[in-house]
Amino acid sequence: MSQSEFSIIAQYFESLTLRRDDTFLGIGDDCAILTCPAGHSVAVSIDTLVEGIHFFSDVDPRTLGHKSLAVGLSDLAAMGATPAWFTLALTLPNVDEHWLSQFSLGLSSLAKYHNIQLVGGDTTRGPLTISIQVHGHVKANEALRRDGAQVGDLIYVTGTLGDAGAALQLKLHNLEQSVLDDEDKSYLVSRLELPTPRIEISHKLIGIATSAIDISDGLSADLGHIISKSGVGAEIVIEQLPLSVAMTKIDKTTAYDLALTSGDDYELCFTVPPQYKKQIERELASHCTQIGVITEHSSGFKIIDKKGDVFSLQGKGYDHFPS
Ligand code: ADP
Ligand code: MG
Repeated sequence: MSQSEFSIIAQYFESLTLRRDDTFLGIGDDCAILTCPAGHSVAVSIDTLVEGIHFFSDVDPRTLGHKSLAVGLSDLAAMGATPAWFTLALTLPNVDEHWLSQFSLGLSSLAKYHNIQLVGGDTTRGPLTISIQVHGHVKANEALRRDGAQVGDLIYVTGTLGDAGAALQLKLHNLEQSVLDDEDKSYLVSRLELPTPRIEISHKLIGIATSAIDISDGLSADLGHIISKSGVGAEIVIEQLPLSVAMTKIDKTTAYDLALTSGDDYELCFTVPPQYKKQIERELASHCTQIGVITEHSSGFKIIDKKGDVFSLQGKGYDHFPS
């Protein structure tokens, strides 16, 4: 990047960022210097979005700015961490001021909402690629991990499942459109483009949930990570999967298949010992749904319908490197 191009970029990112008291030194030097509160550890995660792979070329840059940060915030939520700082590696084919201003608006409004400060990054020329590394605070022994689920725990998910996957199929013209009105379609697309990281809910799970994960690759793949890391099995009941109003209008098998296997919802899946059932339902009733139970490892991962028959999956969860 030339110096003038670099200063244009700096203008968008440096001026929009908020300031936190625990940032000793932010953007502008070779490194940022950050202070973690006493008794806490730093939770770190990075995600990359590549044009044509993770987003369509014609996506609104403002929603892209939101989503680029939301996926990292969702990882912090999955661990029960409190967002603090992020860095941004931007690879741009050219300097497009309209694109930059909209992208940085989407990014900074979500950053402000979660009080997460941009403290550095890197800017290079090349095919449009956005990498964001997020940093959060968490007490190490309180972090929500994938490996703590116990036999008998109840399995919950937040929000509704399959909406983002349905939006993708809509855009690819693989979904029957006529059953959906404009409101349904724009709702589904907003779920794909503007995911809501479940930070507030995750904080309520600390000390209660035995495991948690965010659903980025589809429920069956992500719950699969919990059970393999925890050395347990799981049984979920297909009719208990929470579906949005729009999803209830499409073909039932397609809806459940998307709910189980499509990615990008950024909801949380978590497990809770049965004695916390009342507390969860009192505090989070409108935000989460019980979908099944954790079973012995030897029982494997079973998806059944309410009559007890096995439900067979059509999709498999998103795999970046299919064999
Ligand atoms: P260096 O060459 O020492 O890595 P750079 O010239 O790449 O430094 O960056 C100068 C400063 O601007 C650094 O503090 C860096 O973190 C910040 N920076 C560069 N690109 C971005 C970006 N896309 N977003 C936020 N900060 C950035
Ligand atoms: Mg650099």
